[in-house]
Amino acid sequence: QYRGVNELRKLYLDFFESKEHLRMKSFSLVPHNDNSLLIINSGMAPLKPYFTGQEIPPKRRVTTCQKCIRTGDIENVGKTARHGTFFEMLGNFSFGDYFKTEAIHWSWEFLTEVVGIDPDRLYPSVYVDDDEAFEIWNKEIGVAADRIYRFGKEDNFWEHGAGPCGPCSEIYYDRGEKYGTGPEDVMGGEGDRFMEVWNNVFSQFNNDGKGNYTELVQKNIDTGMGLERLAVVVQDVDSIFDVDTLQALRDKVCEIAGVKYKDSEKQDVSIRVITDHIRSVTFMVSDGIMPSNEGRGYVLRRLLRRAARHGRLLGINHKFLGELCETVIEGSKDGYPELEEKKTFILKVISEEEDKFNKTIDQGLTILNDMMDELAKNNSKVLSGADTFKLYDTYGFPIDLTKEILEEKDITVDEEGFKAAMEEQRVKARNARKTTNYMGADATVYDDIDPAISSEFVGYDKLTNEGEV
Ligand code: ATP
Ligand code: MG
Ligand code: MG
Ligand code: MG
Repeated sequence: QYRGVNELRKLYLDFFESKEHLRMKSFSLVPHNDNSLLIINSGMAPLKPYFTGQEIPPKRRVTTCQKCIRTGDIENVGKTARHGTFFEMLGNFSFGDYFKTEAIHWSWEFLTEVVGIDPDRLYPSVYVDDDEAFEIWNKEIGVAADRIYRFGKEDNFWEHGAGPCGPCSEIYYDRGEKYGTGPEDVMGGEGDRFMEVWNNVFSQFNNDGKGNYTELVQKNIDTGMGLERLAVVVQDVDSIFDVDTLQALRDKVCEIAGVKYKDSEKQDVSIRVITDHIRSVTFMVSDGIMPSNEGRGYVLRRLLRRAARHGRLLGINHKFLGELCETVIEGSKDGYPELEEKKTFILKVISEEEDKFNKTIDQGLTILNDMMDELAKNNSKVLSGADTFKLYDTYGFPIDLTKEILEEKDITVDEEGFKAAMEEQRVKARNARKTTNYMGADATVYDDIDPAISSEFVGYDKLTNEGEV
């Protein structure tokens, strides 16, 4: 049966409400009282104080659909079928209430009965020595033993530094051979054939930070399922960019650019990148994050500029992000009414930032043209590392754009020289920042944020991985 994203969200929350969970609204993308995390990246992240016992939850069973951003996945966006920087995570949580048995039974009931997914396509994984979870899947649910995979710590033990941690059990959906037959297209592999849909974390231990594990008095359940991925399975489509709400957005991108989806792989990557990034941008602004040169504002600026940049790659040469933003709001206001309420504000912020980016590009182009004239005079076909770096650092001109424009004239960039100049700058900046503090942390912790607006922008893995389900 066909179900839209907005309907699936509701089905999930209704289901867990019927299992006596308190339905709570998505928390803001901006963490509250949590210096360890820049942006909320999982359903459990804003609930941490309830897991650690620091705060008393309003009820011992809670369910949410949490807006999440993972810039650590940015390299995958547009390339895999299942990653966005922005996504919604459905979750049911137990703070010292129910444990493994109920969690597994309910996840199975929801997927196979409520949503009607074919059980023969589902494969659970458990932590290598978690016999208890294995038995529940095998004996109680009736999944054949050879369909239950035991994976090691890397995949199936959730922990982050000291504090509550434990084994987890994930549910994968086999999308069939047409989604890949390579070595990675196996259960638990990185390919897109077996798609991880749901992660059930059994936080039953406490790690004292020195690697000593003790059983927790309060055993918790923390689960997370990507709403878009669930929709991929239910709607039987190729990727998260083909589910109803994202498809509407994708179509809008194509309409504005005057291109067709599935005409060229290179264009498709740009279309998907824009489709994803504009969602992150819209939701970040709606949560009060403003473009800036540091912290969250910096992430916002980079995502917005990356979207604008891919727009240029598609041949769009006018302002377009505002129009897309309206489509995001239209598609998601059902679950997030605040989008509609703050619409004017969101559009204004995005429009101003897009203007700034366009000015940067125009200015950079003028300078680059001068540099090219100079090269022609000297009969040179290589732009020096110093000049490339100057464009990028002083004028904020994206390096991939520099390369592309030069390519048309058969000019290359001295990449080694560029890297050397960048490294020199990095060391200088790092030394300067060692003494400053940012949100209670040594400001250098954000050095992983690549300052380039390029395909090399990898976000800040270490931070986003913190508190992942
Ligand atoms: P993957 O291995 O596919 O990258 P993950 O193991 O990193 O996923 P978890 O940290 O376990 O994901 O998060 C719980 C759930 O959230 C996943 O099972 C998936 O459904 C969803 N999810 C995680 N990352 C993304 C993303 N970048 N885009 C969309 N959904 C995601
Ligand atoms: Mg991941
Ligand atoms: Mg995984
Ligand atoms: Mg996982």
